[in-house]
Amino acid sequence: MIHDAHGWWIADAGAPAPLPALAEDVDADVVIVGGGYTGLWTAWEVAEAEPNARVVVLEADRCGVGPSGRNGGFLSSLWLYGPLLREQYGETQARELCEASVGSVRAVGAWCEAQEVDAWYREAPHLVVSCAPAQDGASADAVDGREVVALTPAETRAVCGSPVFRGGVAARSGATIHPARLAFGLRERLLGRGVRIFEGSPVRALRSDRGHPDAPGAVVAETAGGRVRAAAGVVAVNGASGRLRRLRNRLTVSSSHIVLTEPVPDVIEALGWTGGEAITDGRALLHYFRTTRDGRILFGWGGGRMAVGARTGGRMDVDPGVVEETRRSLHRIFPALAGRRIAHAWGGPIDVSPTHLPAIVTLTGGRAWAAFGYTGNGVGPSHLAARSLASLALGRRDAPARWAWIDPPPKAVPPEPLRVAGATVLRAALARSESAAEAGGRADPVSEALAALPEKLGLHIVR
Ligand SMILES: Cc1cc2nc3c(=O)[nH]c(=O)nc-3n(C[C@H](O)[C@H](O)[C@H](O)COP(=O)(O)OP(=O)(O)OC[C@H]3O[C@@H](n4cnc5c(N)ncnc54)[C@H](O)[C@@H]3O)c2cc1C
Repeated sequence: MIHDAHGWWIADAGAPAPLPALAEDVDADVVIVGGGYTGLWTAWEVAEAEPNARVVVLEADRCGVGPSGRNGGFLSSLWLYGPLLREQYGETQARELCEASVGSVRAVGAWCEAQEVDAWYREAPHLVVSCAPAQDGASADAVDGREVVALTPAETRAVCGSPVFRGGVAARSGATIHPARLAFGLRERLLGRGVRIFEGSPVRALRSDRGHPDAPGAVVAETAGGRVRAAAGVVAVNGASGRLRRLRNRLTVSSSHIVLTEPVPDVIEALGWTGGEAITDGRALLHYFRTTRDGRILFGWGGGRMAVGARTGGRMDVDPGVVEETRRSLHRIFPALAGRRIAHAWGGPIDVSPTHLPAIVTLTGGRAWAAFGYTGNGVGPSHLAARSLASLALGRRDAPARWAWIDPPPKAVPPEPLRVAGATVLRAALARSESAAEAGGRADPVSEALAALPEKLGLHIVR
């Protein structure tokens, strides 16, 4: 098994040569900090809306080598989050976001086709499946009979014949993608449209510049090699968002890890899992799994460590202990993989918001906005967020500039060091409790009590 911090997807797609860093001062209409999906889709949306706009993307490393290039490739709508969105924003606003999110799933497919980017886009339902009695009823509150439907145990096993599957639910609109092919394709098409992208250019400060009394205010993004002065700014740095003072207490960062099998087309065929469906189990620290175009099974677990502050790298990227636990779960759900090789393993940071919903927050003198808090579900929602961000940056007053996730009532996470210490203890207890439940038993009483705590306190610390 190859442990690779950058993930197999990136190796498979062939990362493009890096672009030069910013080495001078530049003026722009919109400056975007971060070259993952959020930043790149925002650049695309701005260029679509205003073809003459001067757009600059500043990326600390290389576009797409963060989570956007190495995620599980679940391109989901927000319908499974419908109950959370309703709780937060009410029925009408929640419905508006959910419906627009289906539009994003389709828009990514249409974009790939129109731009001739082969990102392995494949439409297929997304299932949440119970793998133990304690998981029965997971996501049942999202069932509306139209966008999300309930599945009997037999219907669930007809999609994929794992012996541990019980009932489940299916969100009808969804797709899977090859994440790095999508990220690198976007980067290339943006360059073709004249968007200026500087890599190896970490932004160390973003400040507002009020300009002269007779000139409008601006946003200035500073890097070691130069500054970008723009009319509007977008911060799209995901797990690093907590480095902004304004967002310090708005998110935690944990890690998610993936194991990828060698090609196993015979196993996939025997499971009857030939429809490309993306599946998660009903755990709070969830497992997620899908097939790939080249006949592999990709299997992830969101139970990795918490990061201190907004730090990423290290065991956020590859944690051998978490990889081993993920591999064990893969074999429990798919015993037919016994004797088959795990070819690759990797991980990455997840920006967890206390509501488990992404948010867009106004920064720096009202001329910059940050999107964060995707909580492990940003592939589809980042496209949707880009629509809001582009509208805000261009001063438009359309629906995406007014969606309910813009400046929602702030919800804070506990301050550090309580944040990491508390969440680490709770997550470890939850992992023990969920493993014990899958084996038909219960963990020790202290772990069970701790595992029940977040729900009792109304906290969404995972999933
Ligand atoms: C292992 C794993 C599996 C996942 N699976 C799924 C999945 O199947 N489906 C799903 O929906 N979501 C999944 N996610 C989450 C998803 O990948 C993210 O929500 C999404 O990619 C976020 O995109 P982004 O552009 O906001 O952030 P990122 O992709 O993290 O991009 C942010 C960029 O900002 C750059 N940056 C940071 N600081 C600075 C700075 N100071 N200056 C300039 N640039 C900076 C970074 O280098 C990075 O390139 C997964 C995540 C991980 C880690």
